[in-house]
Amino acid sequence: MSLEKRCTEKGLRMTGQRRVIARVLEEAQDHPDVEDLYNRASKIDSHISIATVYRTVKLLEETGMLERHEFRDGRARYEIVPEDHHDHLIDLKSGHVIEFANEEIERLQEKIAHDLGYKLVDHRLELYGIPLDNKSKKDD
Ligand SMILES: [Zn+2]
Repeated sequence: MSLEKRCTEKGLRMTGQRRVIARVLEEAQDHPDVEDLYNRASKIDSHISIATVYRTVKLLEETGMLERHEFRDGRARYEIVPEDHHDHLIDLKSGHVIEFANEEIERLQEKIAHDLGYKLVDHRLELYGIPLDNKSKKDD
C-alpha cells in the first residue's frame, strides 16, 4: 500500500505538499535525513519549506508510518516502516547503510527474550563495520 493511502486511512489530511513528501520518502533507497528529503521535495515543488518537511516527518513518525534511525553520525534518518523486517549494517568509511535480514539472528533474539521470560515484540540491530578489502595507506 502506498504511504499516501496509509496516511489517508489513518485520517491524515493529505495536502499537495504532504503528497510530495510522501512520494520522496517512497522513492528513497538510502535512509535520508530531513535535509535530504527537503532537497528532493523542493525539486518537485519549490514552495515546500524545510519546516513543512520537519512537521510532516514528525507527524508520520508519530502515527507509526515512519521509522527514525540514528546511525551514530548525529543525523536523524528516516524510512517508511517496512512490511518485511530488516536490520542495518553501517559502513563507517562511506556512511552507506546496507539492509539485511537473517533468520538465524531473528530466532536467536526470540530465544534470548524467551529465556529471560519475555515475548519479543520488537528489536533494533545495527552493525557497524569497515570494508574488509580496504587497504588503507599507513602514513604514520
Ligand atoms: Zn532500512
